[in-house]
Amino acid sequence: MDFTIDAKMRDRLSEARAWGREQIRPAGLEADRMGAPLPVDHPYFEAFLARGDGRTRWPGPGVKPDRPRPGLVVLSLLLAEETAYWDRGVIVAGPGPGLPEPNVLAMGTEEQKQRFLGPFREPDRPRWACFAMTEPGAGSDAAAIRTHARKDGDHWILNGAKCFIGNASRADWILVQATIDPSKGREAQRAFFVERGTPGLGGFKIEKKMGLKAYESTSFSLQDCRIPAANLLGGEARYEQRAGFKTAMRTFNAGRPIIAANAVGIGRAALDEALAFAREHDLLGDARVRDRLEACARRLRLARLVCLKAGWLADRGRANIVEASMSKALAAGVAQQATSLGMELLGTVGARGDHLIEKLYRDAKAMDIVEGTGQIQRVIIARQLVGLPR
Ligand SMILES: Cc1cc2nc3c(=O)[nH]c(=O)nc-3n(C[C@H](O)[C@H](O)[C@H](O)COP(=O)(O)OP(=O)(O)OC[C@H]3O[C@@H](n4cnc5c(N)ncnc54)[C@H](O)[C@@H]3O)c2cc1C
Repeated sequence: MDFTIDAKMRDRLSEARAWGREQIRPAGLEADRMGAPLPVDHPYFEAFLARGDGRTRWPGPGVKPDRPRPGLVVLSLLLAEETAYWDRGVIVAGPGPGLPEPNVLAMGTEEQKQRFLGPFREPDRPRWACFAMTEPGAGSDAAAIRTHARKDGDHWILNGAKCFIGNASRADWILVQATIDPSKGREAQRAFFVERGTPGLGGFKIEKKMGLKAYESTSFSLQDCRIPAANLLGGEARYEQRAGFKTAMRTFNAGRPIIAANAVGIGRAALDEALAFAREHDLLGDARVRDRLEACARRLRLARLVCLKAGWLADRGRANIVEASMSKALAAGVAQQATSLGMELLGTVGARGDHLIEKLYRDAKAMDIVEGTGQIQRVIIARQLVGLPR
């Protein structure tokens, strides 16, 4: 295995480092101290767009996407790690087609790509989109969602409730996962583009979160939302053989190493802060302190290597389900250990609640929850190990 990236990719990583130091970290600290998401008109978002971010990967009507360059997935993981080092909440807050984009690229019709991704090609303002799967009664068991879709002539009528959905209240559209028959589990799932302002879409409530405060996680409801048939992702024919559920799950599979890389970034930031604190307070002469710092650095390196292996396999179009799950299961735990070690070294300084390590400690926990909890990753790995179907 070779994780080498070319000179152009290395430049992108250096640029991300500088951007992180100058823009991402200050924006993250500001949101955390404010205890609220960065507002939609925050200058960070304009600057983000101005540097060419917040765009779709869709190349435009009739244009064939370039063949992915080798190493691109590994690069995306290195960027995910680097940017999360500076602030993971700000990364998710960034405008763009976000989490649902891979689903739309994989399954959307040309007309849907034009309508829903087109505005993200050269955005005239910060624009967001989001993916809504989780419900008050359905998190890990995504097959248990209850948001219901009923066909009514040329429309669908959606009813239900979603929670903890990133960027939902500011999104131009939400890709809502719903079921046409709750008794039929996965096969009955469909995804719908629900546009902002659709009558019946409302009740937005930004959740209170312990960390990652820079972006909003929002609950909302759908009450008799009338959605044109053209807003069914991919059209009805695509939903044979459980394509709706499978595509949604593919998004999560692809996202796991990214979350793992984010977790490694948070862990690295905590380790650097802990080292700086220990040096400043003359703690490095103590072998027990050094041992704990060493163990933390070693575990972070291990998590990073598993994560890069998941990316290396994806770059070659090879199955990476075990590595993707392992990377997330490992890295989220290591990030929590690293931030916890930092808090212990800080003692009362950490307890005051205004040190970066204390923020990282609160941010790290979500890495174990989002896109499949650590426990669920371990279930996936175990099932693969003993040859059970997923
Ligand atoms: C910060 C944040 C952002 C989020 N953003 C989004 C978003 O943008 N879009 C979205 O759709 N969702 C989002 N979520 C929701 C997230 O995907 C769910 O929280 C997650 O899937 C877990 O579901 P749950 O919280 O309902 O926990 P539950 O599924 O109720 O799980 C509770 C506990 O039981 C364990 N458990 C459950 N089932 C099993 C099993 N079969 N075997 C062993 N243990 C099990 C879990 O590991 C966990 O420890 C977000 C959540 C957070 C915290």
